[in-house]
Formats: sequence, structure tokens, C-alpha cells
Amino acid sequence: TGATEVVTRFAPSPTGALHIGGARTALFNWLYARGRGGRFLLRIEDTDRARSTDENHQAILDGLSWLGLDWDGEPLSQATRADRHAEVAHALLARGRAFRCYSTQDEIEAFREQARERGQSTLFRSPWREIPEDQHPDAPFVIRLKVPREGATTVRDEVQGDVTWQNDQIDDLVLLRSDGSPVYMLAVVVDDHDMGVTHVIRGDDHLANAIRQTLIYEAMDWRVPVMAHVPLIFGPDGKKLSKRHGATGAAEYRAMGYPAAGMRNYLTRLGWSHGDAEYFTDSEAREWFDLRGIGKSPARFDMKKLEN
Ligand code: GLU
Repeated sequence: TGATEVVTRFAPSPTGALHIGGARTALFNWLYARGRGGRFLLRIEDTDRARSTDENHQAILDGLSWLGLDWDGEPLSQATRADRHAEVAHALLARGRAFRCYSTQDEIEAFREQARERGQSTLFRSPWREIPEDQHPDAPFVIRLKVPREGATTVRDEVQGDVTWQNDQIDDLVLLRSDGSPVYMLAVVVDDHDMGVTHVIRGDDHLANAIRQTLIYEAMDWRVPVMAHVPLIFGPDGKKLSKRHGATGAAEYRAMGYPAAGMRNYLTRLGWSHGDAEYFTDSEAREWFDLRGIGKSPARFDMKKLEN
């Protein structure tokens, strides 16, 4: 029962700069790995070519460096991995855990329309799931995951507890588009697996994705990482943090002259607690940080508290 090394990651999309929520996610992953002699990796999720910019990419790295969150090795660019993602989609086909679907967008729409009229579930059920391959046409197709129709899938989340979905409520999600490009859901699973990630700590806006990702792990017989979905950060008024509440970017605080150490301490306590402690030295934070101390309700970010 050799203990495996802890590997965490931060996987920002460079469609924006580093905001408070992202900085906290990165910090939690960094603390968790560094407190356990593990590795903290960086993956840039740059598959959205239209919205990803080099400037944002650089701003994220700068923000992390400012906060003292050093990563191991070179950041991985997700966009460079499309061939590997496609390879796994084809491996799932070969294992009988995925199928080629030739349904056109019009056919899918017509299916939904009929289901709606009949008052049935509008989850698309592709006829191609059951049609033997020797009857397949020579036409464009997408690759879809063959989600089991029976049973249920559970995410054992360290923060949220067990989250269970009935499999028949889940659609046979597309893994590979007809142009051969991977969908995000597949890319995340393949990259986390290949990077050897043992713990996924991220915002709870990804919890619904975690169910689908778990299905992909299971179909590949890969070990599902430990998951911890952290409640999002709210403003002092209890609404989702936004520009209305003041600056939300790490770079803005840096520019205003906030010291990185104070910022880091504040972010450490944003959604995580350890007894009544208000201030942690760096080594205390690394030593004490754990998943149990992450609260189930949203933390409130209050600039005024940061000023004190
Ligand atoms: N790229 C995603 C985001 O910025 C994170 C995905 C993940 O952590 O799995 O929200």
C-alpha cells in the first residue's frame, strides 16, 4: 500500500486574467501539494482559440508568481494535446464504451421536438448506439460516450459529500466532434489522467461536469482522482462576486500596492478555516491546510477586510 505522491493542478482558461476565485483555487491546490511534499502542476486550458489570449496567459503566470505559487515543470497547453484526446475517444470506441453517431443536427432537433410533444425526456437518444458498425454509412460522425442506462454514478466529493446521478438522466455526451476535435469534458479527463493528478480541487461550478468526467474515467478503467469542489466566492452582500463589488483581479490588487503575503493569507481563509486562527505563517498554512476545513457555503470576499 505504497502511499502515492500527491499531484494537484491549476487549470485556468486564458480567456481572462487571474481573478480572485482563480487565485484562491490555485492557492488551495498549491497548499495541498506543498504541505504533502507533492507536486503542483499548471495546465493552460487554451482550447477556446477565439477567446484565449497570450496576454491573459501571461497575466495568469504573473499573478501566480506574485502570490508565490510556484508550479512544477512547464505549464501544459491543452490545445497541443488534441491528438491524444482523439486517441482516447477512439480507444473508447475500441472498448465498446463509445459509438459513432451519424445523426444530423436537424435529426436531433426533430427528436427533441417529438419528445417534447409526447411529454417525454428530451435527452437525445441516438439510434446509432444500437446499429451494428457494418451498417454504418460513410458519412461524418461524432463519437459519443455510451453512458450505462442502468444504475447511478456517484462523485465522492470531499467538500460536498456524495453526489449521485441516475445514469438514465445523463445523455450520451459527445467526446469527439465531426471535425475530429475533442470536447472540453474529454480533454480535462485525459489531461488529468496523463498528468497523474491525484486531487482535483476547483470551483463547485464544475460539480455537474464531475459526474460526466467520472463516467469517462470509469469507461477507461482509470482511477478517478479525489475531488473537492469548493463553493464559489460571493461579495459582502451574498451575491456572486463581480465587478460591482470592486476589484476582482489579482493584478488590480497588486497594482494598488497590496502586499502579496497579506493577499495570500486572506485568500487562505476565504472558504477554509482552521480553528479560530486568523493569520498563518507560510509554513503553518502549508502544514494545516486540508480538505476537511473547506466550508460548504460560499465564502464572502470583502475588500475592507483585506485592508485591515
Ligand atoms: N478551465 C476551467 C476553468 O477555468 C477549470 C477546469 C478544471 O479545473 O477542471 O474554470
